Amino acid sequence: MIIDDQHYDVIIIGTGAGGGTLARKLAPSGKRILLLERGDAMRLEDQNISSVDIFQKQRYHAPENWYDEGGEPFTPQMEYAIGGNTKIYGAALQRMREKDFETVAHQDGISPEWCLKYADFEPYYTEAEALYQVHGQGGVDPTEPSRSAAYPYPAVVHDLTIQPVVDDIVKQGCHPFPLPMSLSLQADDPTGDAEVFGVAPALQFANVTLKTAAKVTGLLTNPAGTSVKAVRTELNGQPYLFFADIVVLACGAINSAAVLLQSANEKHPHGLANGSDQVGRNLMKLQMSSIVQVTAQANSGKFPRSVGINDYYWGDNQFSYPMGHIQNMGGVLQDAIFAESPPVLSLITKFMPNFGLKQLATRSIAWWAMTEVLPDPKNRVEVKGNKLYVSFTANNAEAHDRLVYRWLDVLKAIEKDSSLFSRSGMHPRGEVPLPVVANQCGTCVMGTDPATSVLDPNCRAHELDNLYVVDSSFFPSSSSVGPALTVIANALRVGEHLLGRLK
Ligand SMILES: Cc1cc2nc3c(=O)[nH]c(=O)nc-3n(C[C@H](O)[C@H](O)[C@H](O)COP(=O)(O)OP(=O)(O)OC[C@H]3O[C@@H](n4cnc5c(N)ncnc54)[C@H](O)[C@@H]3O)c2cc1C
Repeated sequence: MIIDDQHYDVIIIGTGAGGGTLARKLAPSGKRILLLERGDAMRLEDQNISSVDIFQKQRYHAPENWYDEGGEPFTPQMEYAIGGNTKIYGAALQRMREKDFETVAHQDGISPEWCLKYADFEPYYTEAEALYQVHGQGGVDPTEPSRSAAYPYPAVVHDLTIQPVVDDIVKQGCHPFPLPMSLSLQADDPTGDAEVFGVAPALQFANVTLKTAAKVTGLLTNPAGTSVKAVRTELNGQPYLFFADIVVLACGAINSAAVLLQSANEKHPHGLANGSDQVGRNLMKLQMSSIVQVTAQANSGKFPRSVGINDYYWGDNQFSYPMGHIQNMGGVLQDAIFAESPPVLSLITKFMPNFGLKQLATRSIAWWAMTEVLPDPKNRVEVKGNKLYVSFTANNAEAHDRLVYRWLDVLKAIEKDSSLFSRSGMHPRGEVPLPVVANQCGTCVMGTDPATSVLDPNCRAHELDNLYVVDSSFFPSSSSVGPALTVIANALRVGEHLLGRLK
């Protein structure tokens, strides 16, 4: 074991939405900050190249095995790189709604109340939108929460061929709104991510050090088990120990839980910070279905993701429970749909034999339907020996089905000449396959009661005075919008707390 001779004020483990953002927030403090990242810089030509690569060729699946409940191995959809999963994400950055922080009755049960409210997050959402250069327009989304500032950049303009579709959606009584998007304004890498807006600016400060190919394998505590003393790391395959006053986990919900579980010791026999037996539990990931609209008019085939619909978010006059969120996918030849949905392809062949794939690509618009999954302690991460196990069964299936069929009804009403609409055949009832852990959250829930939560409201572990977690692990509930903006805002919030503590 190599003992690193430096002592840091803060070690941040992982450089994705949570870790990368926190590094940016703490960097100007002058404190000695070490970033440990198991991946490396992602080559520019590998970034956001194609949904086919993401979904079909499993290009962005980590080269490691995790195991399902039955012990079957799978490779998870994780990007181990500077910037983490934000290097491959869709960059749609939405705030959770005010009510998402409250107790909400869903058809399958309760979405629990957060110990902090929207008002606690609002200033950090504003800061997050400024940092990640979010392009949006307030006042259009009927469920939009209150804002203390306008979006920092104007909304992405709908493609000329998408605008008429948006107009038709309005005629059906819906209120489509410009989807808030993070854009870096760099021609070669337009997607705003945690490397561009977090890690790279943090590294401009001499007090910030980044070590890549640095996989953290465990945290060691003092003999009393009350604080973390050292971070055990494989650096380029060599075992190292790093030391800091404050240690922050930001490995993503599943990997952070795994690090805690594999750090069990005499004082923490069931895993670090796990006196509540909640570490690893309540894993959530959105229910998602893709829906293809085949249009009478050809479109450009290449258009940005720009439309969101929240008219069914809290239900409608026929269904009083929340259903969720709809957004369009960008039109990069609609490859995600074709990649994910062989049944769609077979339908095309059956009903439209003369319709080539390329032709269809310019006659189709693909949509995501996204529904909250409720926390369930049985949906969990476990570590047995050196193997990571993930058990997950989605819930809220009927609400998701209803959302899909609501959207199909709207599309059918506006596309009179078109003949094919289909729900993605990813899985029955919209359940995304286990390896797709894109929107993972939960596993180290935040709360005020150490008996039922892992982290306190500052995202500090109840049981260890210098251990924090700032990735998506802290979510008590998932909401129906993507998690990234809330992860970013929370990292800024915890960062402010840490700046106070480091003074
Ligand atoms: C294809 C795809 C599309 C998405 N689209 C959207 C979207 O449009 N909108 C949205 O809101 N969300 C989206 N998401 C989700 C979003 O990317 C995540 O919510 C967000 O990145 C989570 O941030 P995080 O900090 O929790 O984890 P991550 O961003 O995953 O960062 C974790 C980091 O920890 C590192 N790490 C892991 N284990 C270790 C270890 N043991 N030692 C050292 N380092 C480690 C990883 O390499 C990584 O850098 C998408 C995700 C994917 C995969």
